[in-house]
Amino acid sequence: MSTEQFRKEGKRIIDWIADYYENVENFPVLSQVTPGEIISSLPENPPQKGESIDAMMRDIDNKIMRGITHWQSPNFYAFFPSNTSFPSILGDLISSGLGVQGMLWATSPAATELETRVLDWLAGMMGMPEKFKSTSTGGGVIQDTASTSALTAVIAARERATNFQSNKIGARHKLVAYISSQTHSSLEKAIKMAGIGTDNLRLIGVNDKFEMRPELLDKQIQLDKADGYIPFFICAALGTTSSNAVDPIRKIGEIAGRENCWFHIDGAMSGTAMICPEYRHYMDGVELADSFVFNPHKWMFTNFDCDVFWVGNRNELINTFSILPEYLKNKTTESGTVFDYRDWHVQLGRRFRSLKLWFVIRHYGIEGLQFHIRKHIEMAHDFAGWIKQSTDFELVVDPLFNLVCFCHKNGDDFNMKIMNKVNETGKIYFTHTKLNNKIVLRMSIGQTHTEPVHVKAAWDLIKQSAVQLESEEKLF
Ligand SMILES: *Cc1c(COP(=O)(O)O)cnc(C)c1O
Repeated sequence: MSTEQFRKEGKRIIDWIADYYENVENFPVLSQVTPGEIISSLPENPPQKGESIDAMMRDIDNKIMRGITHWQSPNFYAFFPSNTSFPSILGDLISSGLGVQGMLWATSPAATELETRVLDWLAGMMGMPEKFKSTSTGGGVIQDTASTSALTAVIAARERATNFQSNKIGARHKLVAYISSQTHSSLEKAIKMAGIGTDNLRLIGVNDKFEMRPELLDKQIQLDKADGYIPFFICAALGTTSSNAVDPIRKIGEIAGRENCWFHIDGAMSGTAMICPEYRHYMDGVELADSFVFNPHKWMFTNFDCDVFWVGNRNELINTFSILPEYLKNKTTESGTVFDYRDWHVQLGRRFRSLKLWFVIRHYGIEGLQFHIRKHIEMAHDFAGWIKQSTDFELVVDPLFNLVCFCHKNGDDFNMKIMNKVNETGKIYFTHTKLNNKIVLRMSIGQTHTEPVHVKAAWDLIKQSAVQLESEEKLF
């Protein structure tokens, strides 16, 4: 493809994307295809001769779009959001254009240094303690996902707990880790992958707000120590996935400090709220953490993938992950004056992901980000207010941020029926969870383009669907 043709097709595709955003509400939010429908519409064999972008775009429109679930629709309330924004898309496009692989400082100094600066900015924007900045003992690194960050934290914790020997002799110790029954599944996965074993993972009970009970944590640690185990890792949630509960971070951090455990905070979704000072009391005690993770690719308008992982002591990370084969040796690395981010995580190669984050922060500014975060939280609180006023529905927990957990009084089956009926209309998409063994409906209100009118329409639709279902059930 010539640069001339690239210019032409590129502009056309930007227009296509802009059209998509203008029309996104006309598509059913949840893709309506059945399994195998998309693959059977695609040729079994690749083309012998090259094809035109025209032909590809026709297939995008006619084949691919039918199989898209529209995460960028303002009517998307499922799971947690995976937001984009136009500045983020443009920053990501430049990253694609430059095609930089920033594994070492030397392989593109700007990729490393922009990432360092932007993550220091973000730490400041969120009121993170100084130790998490590169100018102090710690620093941040962009990873693909919170799951990878959890694995990174568990492995670094394992090494610290075993004098950096497990890397050499294997994970032979009786190490034991602690999470709550509400902790994200990525922590269990990390414990499996890091050679700790799920037999050595303790699920601590929660209170009626689904927050970890520190007294149960303490008790379990003492029991384990008496049995000859070595407690090494504790994770607290700043916003659980099911209900957005916030664990008592200071109390857990104090136990972690006393017991020499690595303390990881998972704020994948709700970490973004820390940009607004009025929510920072939820992370009181954050200075006790060894690592902290949050996903700008969820709520902070930054294209997937972009996960921020901060540590208070970068040497522990580097001592765990550094490896230097002959073919990667170079003068700047040897000088020890630069960060080589490949030493901060699992993979070697890395994209220039800080560009999109930089574009987002510069486009919105701190005030713009605060404005949108507050607006989402306000819409969620409005929604919760309607639930409270309703005689048929009840609120399961009071929302702290922008996730509303609620249910209809007619029980589990009825709630699942409402959800399926509503989602089948294609007008909105929302999902469920289980709390205390009961089905709970979740409205996660944080899509970049969601406005109060959308939320109001969603509530009307849910209400009406429940009324219709109830009358249908009476008929039969
Ligand atoms: C979404 C989520 C994760 C996992 O996020 P990925 O970036 O997709 O790995 C982890 N923890 C919490 C609390 C989450 O909500």
